[in-house]
Amino acid sequence: MSQYFSAAMTACDNRCVYCGKDMLIDFETFMTGEEDHLIPRSRGGLDDATNIVIACSLCNRLKAGWVPPNGESMDRKELVNAIREEILRRRLKHMQIYFGWVFKNQELRPLWSNEE
Ligand SMILES: [Zn+2]
Repeated sequence: MSQYFSAAMTACDNRCVYCGKDMLIDFETFMTGEEDHLIPRSRGGLDDATNIVIACSLCNRLKAGWVPPNGESMDRKELVNAIREEILRRRLKHMQIYFGWVFKNQELRPLWSNEE
């Protein structure tokens, strides 16, 4: 945690700025809270409160180093929305992989089916 963690938690209403997860719901979740640089430092993003948000570890991992095209010229709100949209797209892709594993070799039937 940097000196900006506390201010970022307050600014993000103690939630992951991307998926809205309540980072104070329990201790385990709190411990997965990470400071995310909207514009990564490797892309010239500042290491200060204007560029740091709170992200859950999953969103941060899905985001990785992604920056929207022209991200550097977006304001903070536009940037968060663009990143949120990309993370959602990536979540859906990984959900498809997940359900592929969960239902591997299983035939899906409607819940109201009488067949065993
Ligand atoms: Zn999240």
